[in-house]
Amino acid sequence: MDETSRTTLELLYNISRELTSDLDLRTVLSRVLMLSSRHVGAERASIIVLDGNQAVEGALIVNDLLLERSVEHWNNVLQDGLAGWVFRNRQAVMLSDTSQDERWAQRPDDAVSRTGAKSAICVPVMAREQVVGILTIVHPRPHFFNQEHLALVQSIADQAGIAIYNARLYDSLQAVTRRYRELFDDSIDPICITGLNGQILESNRQAIALTGYPAEVLVGKTMQELLKLPAEWLKDHVETLGAGQTLHQEALLWTASLSTVPVEVHVRKVAFPNGDVLQWILQDITERKQLDALRDDLMAMVYHDLRSPLSNIISSLEMLNMLLPVSDDENLRALLSIAIRSTGRMQRLINTLLDIYRLEAGQPITSRAMTEIAPLVYEAVDTILPVAENKGQQVDVQIEPNLPPLNIDADMIRRVLINLLDNATKYTLFKGKITLSVYRKGERVEFAVRDNGPGIPPDALEVIFDKFARLQSERFPKGIGLGLAFCRLAVRSHGGEIWVESKLNEGSCFTFALPIPQTEDGLSMKNN
Ligand code: ADP
Repeated sequence: MDETSRTTLELLYNISRELTSDLDLRTVLSRVLMLSSRHVGAERASIIVLDGNQAVEGALIVNDLLLERSVEHWNNVLQDGLAGWVFRNRQAVMLSDTSQDERWAQRPDDAVSRTGAKSAICVPVMAREQVVGILTIVHPRPHFFNQEHLALVQSIADQAGIAIYNARLYDSLQAVTRRYRELFDDSIDPICITGLNGQILESNRQAIALTGYPAEVLVGKTMQELLKLPAEWLKDHVETLGAGQTLHQEALLWTASLSTVPVEVHVRKVAFPNGDVLQWILQDITERKQLDALRDDLMAMVYHDLRSPLSNIISSLEMLNMLLPVSDDENLRALLSIAIRSTGRMQRLINTLLDIYRLEAGQPITSRAMTEIAPLVYEAVDTILPVAENKGQQVDVQIEPNLPPLNIDADMIRRVLINLLDNATKYTLFKGKITLSVYRKGERVEFAVRDNGPGIPPDALEVIFDKFARLQSERFPKGIGLGLAFCRLAVRSHGGEIWVESKLNEGSCFTFALPIPQTEDGLSMKNN
C-alpha cells in the first residue's frame, strides 16, 4: 500500500470514528470538514444540511477556521452557485478551474486579480435515497483535484449521510421522549409507573399532589402500600396483566396526611426500553362516591315515601271501583279505571327503578314462589290491552298447555312481560300485530313477544339492553331507556336469558327463557 492510500484510509477511519462519537450534528460535521480539508490541503470546505428543500444547518471552514453562517445564508447558497446546481441535479461535480465554469458563483476573493482560479469538488450527501446535504471542498489551485479526490469526497459524503440520518433519528426520539414526559406530567389523572412488583419508579405531578408525598419519597414505596391492597394482589392478577389486559379496581388511597381518597385504579403492563413496567392510573372518585351516596338516599326516599302512599291510593281506588254500584254512571267508572291504570303504571315504574338499583347492587331475589304461568301471562296482557286496542292493534296469546310452574318473583317477571308488550305496542304503528307465545324448550320455558313494528338495526341488538340506551328516531315516542335494562337484570337474576331477533321494517321478537325448577330427584317439574 502506498503512502497516499494509507493516509486516505486513515482519514476515512478517523472520519468514521468522529461520525459515531457524538450525536450533536454540528460538532460532528465541523470536525469532519476540518479533517477532510486538512487532508487535501483545501482552502475551504463546507457542508449544508437539508430537510426537504430547505437548508437547516451548515458548517464552513476557511483556512482551518470554523466560521459561523446563518441558516438564511445557507439557503441563499442553495439558490445559485455550484451547491445549488448539485442540489437540483443530485449529481457530483468536479471543477478543474472555477473561473471557467459559470456554475461557480464568484466570490470577491475568487477574482483572478486576487487569489485567482481554484478547483472544487461538490457532491450530494445522500441518505435513504434523499439528498440530505451538500458537501463542497475547494482547493486554492486550479487542476488540483483528480478522480481519487472525487472518490474520497464521495466516501466522506456517504458517511456523513448516515451520520445526518442517525442524528435526525436521535432528535426525533428525543422529541418523542420529551412529548411523553409532557403528556405524563400534564395528564389530568395521577399516574405512577412501577416495577412488576409494584414498587414506584416514577410519578407525575398529579400523583404527587394527590398522595401528598414528594417525588423522592414516593420512589421506593409500593402501590400496594399506598392503596392498602392485599400483598398478593399483583401476583393474583399476573396472568391478566401478562395478557395485555387492564385491571380495574376500586380502592382507598392513603395520603401523606393519613386521610383516605376513594380511587378507581387502572393497572396495565407497558413495555419500556429497559423492560416491562406497570402503569397505574388513579382516578379520584370522591365525587362519584358522593353521588352514589346521594342516589342511595334518594332511592330510600322513593322506596319509603312514594311507594307506601301510592299503594294506599291504588287500594283505595280499587275499593272505590268495587263499591261503585253497577248501575252507576259509566263516565265515572271510565274515569276510575284511568286512575287505576295510571297509578298502576306509576307503581310499576317505581318498583322497576328499585329493582334495577337492588339487582345492580347484587342483591338476590327474596320473594320467589312457585307460580303458574298462564294467569301471570294473562295479567300482563290485560295491563297493556287497553293501549293496544286504542291503537287498533291485535294481540294474540299462545300458551302451550301443561307448562310447569316456575319458581319466580311473579311481580318482577310480570313486569318484564309488561315491559316487552308495552314496547311492542309503543314502537309498532297503528294496526300492528303482537303475538305472545309461551312454550317449553328443553329445561326452560320461553316467552316470546313478536311484533310487526319498525325492527332494530343489527348493530343495536345488544346495545338496547344497556341502561339509558335509546334508538334515535323522530317517529318514536319518548322513553327513558330503562325498560330493557331492567328486563335483562330481572331475567338474569332468575338464572335466565333474554335476547332479540329483528329485521328492519319487518318487526322484532324479544324472547326470554327461564329455567324450570328441578325436583329433589333431579327431574324437572311437570304440571299434571
Ligand atoms: P324505552 O322504551 O324507555 O326507550 P327500553 O329499554 O324499553 O326503553 O328500550 C330501549 C330502546 O329499544 C327503545 O328506545 C327503542 O329504540 C328500542 N326498542 C325496544 N323495543 C322495541 C321494539 N319492540 N321495536 C323496536 N324498537 C324497540
